[in-house]
Amino acid sequence: MFSRAAQLQRCFIGGIVPRVKITGTALILCPACGREHDVKLVQNINPQTDPDAKQKLLAGDFNVLACECGRRTQLVSELLYYDPVSELTIFVSPEGGKGEQPFEAVAAQGTQRLVPSLNALVEKVKIADAGLEDWVLEMVKVLLLASLPEPDLDTVLLFDHLDGNVIHWVMFGTEARAMQSPMAAYERLSARTQARPKPGERQVDRLWAVAAVQQMMRGGN
Ligand SMILES: [Zn+2]
Repeated sequence: MFSRAAQLQRCFIGGIVPRVKITGTALILCPACGREHDVKLVQNINPQTDPDAKQKLLAGDFNVLACECGRRTQLVSELLYYDPVSELTIFVSPEGGKGEQPFEAVAAQGTQRLVPSLNALVEKVKIADAGLEDWVLEMVKVLLLASLPEPDLDTVLLFDHLDGNVIHWVMFGTEARAMQSPMAAYERLSARTQARPKPGERQVDRLWAVAAVQQMMRGGN
């Protein structure tokens, strides 16, 4: 018999990383008040068979521990988002990649991405739902940030939605603020660059985009 204490998942700032793959219920301590909770931890989303899970994900209510004390804690775990219809497979790996395995497990076709967090997953899903390409948007972000009065390429800038010919962003600095950019700039960039990631290139993030923009600037492609 294991003691209850030994079964507890320990809390870290911002979330909890289970040591083993959990497919059912996890025993979680609220980081604010220490109450114990049995929390259902979901590690797979197929939006075709479970549209509710996708809605929860987009609403920020997915794998969240909502404690009686008022604290909401995002649970951190591996998660596979697999949409066989739009051929989009995204693996959330808070501790780094697992190579091919999660993608092979579902025989993924089409777009495959590896992201470090649920926030990054949500952004990728919003981008796909808007009919846009994440890699072009990542390059647009770098150009947008570089054009600011005080450029900082580490600033978190997330796609929010597309409204007609305007792309809406949220920038997270000392406080969150909305930004817009014209869809025409996205289309120009998309036509100009040949940076489209190859099939095995799954980490399409800021680091990727900075390299792609530098290559484009050098006239490399
Ligand atoms: Zn609590």
